[in-house]
Amino acid sequence: METTTAATRSLATEAVHAGREDLAALGLHAAPLDLSTTYPSHDSRAEAARIDEFAATGARPDGPPVYSRLDNPTVARFEDALARLEGTEAAVAFASGMAALTATLLVRASAGLRHVVAVRPLYGCSDHLLTSGLLGTEVTWVDPGEIAEAIRPDTGLVMVESPANPTLAEQDLAAVAEAAGSVPLLVDNTFATPVLQRPCESGARLVLHSATKYLGGHGDVLGGVIACDEETARQLRQIRFATGGVLHPLAGYLLLRGLSTLPVRVRAQSATAAELVRRLAEDPRVTRVHYPRIGGAMVAFEVAGDPHEVISGVRLITPAVSLGSVDTLIQHPGSISHRIVPEDDRRSGGIDEKLLRMSVGLEDVEDLWRDLDAALSGAGSAVPAPADRPAVPAHAVPEPAMP
Ligand SMILES: *Cc1c(COP(=O)(O)O)cnc(C)c1O
Repeated sequence: METTTAATRSLATEAVHAGREDLAALGLHAAPLDLSTTYPSHDSRAEAARIDEFAATGARPDGPPVYSRLDNPTVARFEDALARLEGTEAAVAFASGMAALTATLLVRASAGLRHVVAVRPLYGCSDHLLTSGLLGTEVTWVDPGEIAEAIRPDTGLVMVESPANPTLAEQDLAAVAEAAGSVPLLVDNTFATPVLQRPCESGARLVLHSATKYLGGHGDVLGGVIACDEETARQLRQIRFATGGVLHPLAGYLLLRGLSTLPVRVRAQSATAAELVRRLAEDPRVTRVHYPRIGGAMVAFEVAGDPHEVISGVRLITPAVSLGSVDTLIQHPGSISHRIVPEDDRRSGGIDEKLLRMSVGLEDVEDLWRDLDAALSGAGSAVPAPADRPAVPAHAVPEPAMP
């Protein structure tokens, strides 16, 4: 038995070492960034054999790479590291979270399994991809308790997000996996990250990340990844090769670097988020706070006043969509992240028009609170408005006439 197996190492150790085990033997400290699109070889018989093998199995090609749409060594390091953190056999990286979900749907649809059972809310564009049927799939939206009865002979996937974007609603993943039965369960783990939750330990077959968010962690790289068993990974690699949604090697490099600080970032950001939740929960300008039991750095809250005024009032906090960066971001899901979802569907997913979603960064909690406090006051909700009357933003109140 090996003495240094991954299973004996903690997540914090894996975060800085996984995908980098060969570096010392190569005489390197930082991971090499391989930007080659193609790889010269005088042995075209060997290249033919590698392509045949890939076409037949979808296994990662052995030996020198052939072409960057097939395989890239820098991206492979990120995939290996993420698989270790999620506790799966493999991971397959894509150009974005949406490209990763697309490849998953295509794998299932190409087997004739075009039906998806999903629970709202999901990230806005995931909802849109399923609802629109753009890929020829069909979705049945259900409450978690209705999953088993919604499954049909052509159901290829059950999909949930937990905690969900943007309401932070949580699912009992073990119960959902049991309800899914033999149908693979895909869990979008973007919000929790493997630091807080490893869905495959609860029975999920596929774990999706928008790597753009916490895995990258600095708001400067777009990427997606599916962590799964090797059999599924082979199908995903074949789809990726044929459809081309590959992760750029520089993105793979940045994501591998991002993973090394993932545990410390998530823990520090979560501690600040929990303190902000405590303050928001007792603030009369806030009518409801959403925060998951497993914790994390995402906070959602509904304001008594006008949510647009909070967005226009922040000065330190970045008023922007996306999440998981070192700086704190706030956005209005009804206007941006979930705008593509029709209003009725937003409502059925519990997405209130007064809801704001905040991704807590690494700033000092007092500086963040001062900014939030001022923005909430600017929202004109210092005094909760009576329920039968819309809130009047402070700036809309006429100044008293000077005597
Ligand atoms: C952002 C996001 C996605 C989509 O990822 P992209 O990298 O933007 O394509 C999917 N799921 C969740 C939960 C997200 O927040």
